[in-house]
Amino acid sequence: MNFLSLIEAKRDGHTLDPVHIKEGVAAYTAGRIPDYQMSAFLMAVYFRGLDDGETGALMRAMRDSGDVLRFPADPRPLVDKHSTGGIGDKVSLPLAPLLACLGFRVPMISGRGLGITGGTLDKLDSIPGFQSLPPTERIVEIVQTVGCVICGQTARMVPADKALYALRDATATVPSIPLIVASILSKKLAESLEALVLTVKFGVAAFMPTLERARELAQALVTLANESGVKTRALLTDMHIPLGRSAGNWLEVRESVQCLEGRGPKDLRELVLACAAHLLIQTGKTKTLDAALKQAGDCLASGKPSQKWKEMLAAQGADLPAFDRKLALDHTAPVVVEFKAPASGFVSGCNARVIGEVVRDLGGGRFTKESEINYEVGVDALVKPGEAVQAGEVLARVHAADQTLAEAACARLKNAFEVSAQSPALQPLIADIIGPG
Ligand code: URA
Repeated sequence: MNFLSLIEAKRDGHTLDPVHIKEGVAAYTAGRIPDYQMSAFLMAVYFRGLDDGETGALMRAMRDSGDVLRFPADPRPLVDKHSTGGIGDKVSLPLAPLLACLGFRVPMISGRGLGITGGTLDKLDSIPGFQSLPPTERIVEIVQTVGCVICGQTARMVPADKALYALRDATATVPSIPLIVASILSKKLAESLEALVLTVKFGVAAFMPTLERARELAQALVTLANESGVKTRALLTDMHIPLGRSAGNWLEVRESVQCLEGRGPKDLRELVLACAAHLLIQTGKTKTLDAALKQAGDCLASGKPSQKWKEMLAAQGADLPAFDRKLALDHTAPVVVEFKAPASGFVSGCNARVIGEVVRDLGGGRFTKESEINYEVGVDALVKPGEAVQAGEVLARVHAADQTLAEAACARLKNAFEVSAQSPALQPLIADIIGPG
């Protein structure tokens, strides 16, 4: 194929033929288009954009570059959730077993963290013995028997996205809405889903800093996913402050277990139940949001999702006695230091970007894809905006590999927290819902 004319056409602002997009992606995935030409194409897309038809063609070409998961006929709908990423965002962990207990099948294909944003697979890899990369056949088997699996993409799934994302990362072409939409949905559509719920974050620690940009991304995702036959809604959620009270891989697993046991932070529970409730409505299982929230809340309170979580972990190779022993420990990092409030008042700010940077710099996140991470480090016991503190009370605990790193983290946390005399006006966690129904 003549890829040069595709680059020229997009450079000059023309609309591309879907057949040519498909051929270009297939040729690139097969190694017949060099990275320098694909980089030029991506930059042309970055500046000129893609219309809905072109974005759909790109998404389908990427999805079809590898295996699409196929499941046996079953009355339980196939559903999933995707988050655009944030700090302390551990919703997937309690949500997958909750959804399985609500009568869904959940093939949750997740990613690793990069930069300040945590990744679901890294969190799960902090569990002794857990296997996050089962082969395709085993993914299907676990979904059919347990009801849910949380794992990474196999080498055979959506290889075009793997190659294109690495190239985008190296050519400053990640923040393009059509490229993001095609990338996210190619992976979700390779799961053969009936319904999908998205949490699209906005705020200082989000991919999209403003509510307006997040809305634009959410609308594009929802439109294309629904046109492609997947019933999809997006929840626009606030990422100015971290979700929950902990950030860091193992610390977030602990908090997820608390959520499954009916404890844990209110905001985490709210988002888990909201995601489940929207999927109940999207699949026609429940009619109203109030009824769906109650159904999801009752299911969580029944204790069954907590059992289902253990079943899923066991199916994925986890050593449950070792996991329970780890959970019983107060901390698993060598050093824990308390960061204390400088004054009495109300917490009025808890900057998620600073917290994310602190966790990454403690060794809990990656600077490059090759970085080794320390699963045990992070921050917990975070006091959140609106809560009262006395001078000298703990605002957060830092879990670190050594004292020097812990002290450096505490120095940075001074920039994360604000304490004021007045109780601040709090923003809702879910700012809006985008999607049909
Ligand atoms: N997440 C993805 O999977 N792809 C993007 O392009 C951006 C975020």
